[in-house]
Amino acid sequence: MESKIGITLACPTCGSQELEKLDVADGVEPDSARVRCKSCGALLGTWGEVKAQAKRVALDRVRLKFRNTFKGLKGWKLK
Ligand SMILES: [Zn+2]
Repeated sequence: MESKIGITLACPTCGSQELEKLDVADGVEPDSARVRCKSCGALLGTWGEVKAQAKRVALDRVRLKFRNTFKGLKGWKLK
């Protein structure tokens, strides 16, 4: 599963990317379904939370990348 800003959903406990959604049934909002790691069984929260968390991580990564880029430019100042 790929997206524009490179979101990867993985288990914070074991790093597995094999996650499964629980509570998937008629009348259940997809975002409120719980997500469980298939590998170690850890509950990661609801699908909505997991997505929001993954988005934050992706944004942090982008920010870090920019910071490192500017670190390499000595004598440059951002106005
Ligand atoms: Zn896991």
